[in-house]
Amino acid sequence: MQFNLETLLQHNNIVGQTLLAGYTENTMKLNREERIELKNNQREELKSLWDAGIPGLVLSKEEIDKLRDEFHSWAIHFQLHLIKEGSKKLLHDYEKLIYSIENSTCEHDGKINKGKDWQNCCGIYYEYLNDISCRTAIEIIIKTISINENNEFIANVEKFDRRFKAVPKRQKWIVSDNAIEKYQKKNYWWYFGLPLTVLE
Ligand SMILES: [Zn+2]
Repeated sequence: MQFNLETLLQHNNIVGQTLLAGYTENTMKLNREERIELKNNQREELKSLWDAGIPGLVLSKEEIDKLRDEFHSWAIHFQLHLIKEGSKKLLHDYEKLIYSIENSTCEHDGKINKGKDWQNCCGIYYEYLNDISCRTAIEIIIKTISINENNEFIANVEKFDRRFKAVPKRQKWIVSDNAIEKYQKKNYWWYFGLPLTVLE
């Protein structure tokens, strides 16, 4: 079954909204014309940056084009993040999420949130659903790249997956009923199971 993020975004509006949240926050102070200009500039920037591929990965021209297509429907700020900071940052985001779940803790602006404070911040269902999209991005990449040329990246993903699978979870889908029919548990296992510590 082919995974289609666009379908996920349509069926699960929360993900779409939160993927855009960071972008909206930074652009709220701009007026409409300025926002349009910023978006156009970012699109131009995206175009040229994608040609260089994703830092940290060995990619052919065809693989770059395929990934560009696959991530086309993702938020611009996410794509810029990916093609500027590369696979290391994506792995870092994934590990950071796992650490956050394992320890019920997060850090913003030098302030550490734990337990209930964490649940009121990153440890709540919709934030978790947004953060876990980094694993979906990783999956899109894994399905496209050459395994032999990128074995370090793959090995790191597998290492983090083992850690993340060990986290105790409520046995349920965390995407909407419509979306559930589109995925297979064995392929998109991170959408099945909500960590026990995450607030519903
Ligand atoms: Zn937080």
